[in-house]
Amino acid sequence: MQDARFERVLLRRPDLRTSFPRKFAARLRTQTVVRVDRRGKYLLIELSSGDTLVMHLGMSGSFNVEAGSSARAEADKHDHVVFEMSPSATITFNDPRRFGFMDLVTRKAMAGHATLSKLGPEPLSPDFDAAVLARACKGKKTSLKVALLDQRVVAGIGNIYASEALHRAGLSPRRKASTIATRGGAPLDSAVRLTAAIKAVLIDAIDCGGSYAADGGRFRVYEREGNHCLTKGCRGSIKRITQIGRSTFFCPVCQK
Ligand SMILES: [Zn+2]
Repeated sequence: MQDARFERVLLRRPDLRTSFPRKFAARLRTQTVVRVDRRGKYLLIELSSGDTLVMHLGMSGSFNVEAGSSARAEADKHDHVVFEMSPSATITFNDPRRFGFMDLVTRKAMAGHATLSKLGPEPLSPDFDAAVLARACKGKKTSLKVALLDQRVVAGIGNIYASEALHRAGLSPRRKASTIATRGGAPLDSAVRLTAAIKAVLIDAIDCGGSYAADGGRFRVYEREGNHCLTKGCRGSIKRITQIGRSTFFCPVCQK
C-alpha cells in the first residue's frame, strides 16, 4: 500500500455510519500513501497532502484487494466504496451493516481528533504495562470488565478477549476497576497479572490467525456457559452475565 497512488475513488452512497467528508473523493485523488498505521481498531493512511484517511471496519466491513484497475464486474450491493490505485489495483470496501467509518483528517486536526486522541495505548506495545493500566483504573468505579472495553484505558481489546484475559488472570469481571491499583494509582499484583494475561491472550489470537473465532476450542470461557472451568484444580463452571449490554463469561469460583 505504501507509495500507492489514489487514481479514482467511487462512492456508491453518501454515507456509512456517518456522512463522507466533503469532497472526499476529490481530496483523495492523486494522493500518494506515505505511511500506513493502526491505532486501536482504526486504520490510518497518511497521504502526501498531509491529510490522513481514517477508516474503521465497524461491525461487518471488509476490504477486498484485486489486481487491475476496474471495480468488480458485478458489484455487490454492499460494495460502498471503491479505490482505484496505481500501480494497478482496486480496493473495494464492502459493509452490509454500514457501521464502517471513513474520514479525512488534516495534519493539524489529527492531534485533537475526537476519537483518536483519546485512545489508550496499544495492548501489545511496550507502552502498555501494569503501571499504565493501574493508573488508568485508579479510582474507577466501573467494573473491571467494562474498564477493559473502554478504548481510553487500552485500545482495541474486544469483548471476547476481555473475558478471556480476566479468566487467565483469575480476576472477577465484576470487581471495581479501582481494585487493581493503590489509591495513589500504583499497580497491585492483580494489575501485573492482568497485563500479562491481556498480552498472552492477544498473542495467542494472532498465533491462530488473528481470531479465536475460527478455532472455538481455544476459548477458556467465551460461549462456554455451563461447562466446567478449565483452571487447574478449579471445580467451578462458567457463568454468563451481561455488562453494559455485552455478554461476559467467567468462573465465579476461581475469578476473584
Ligand atoms: Zn474456575
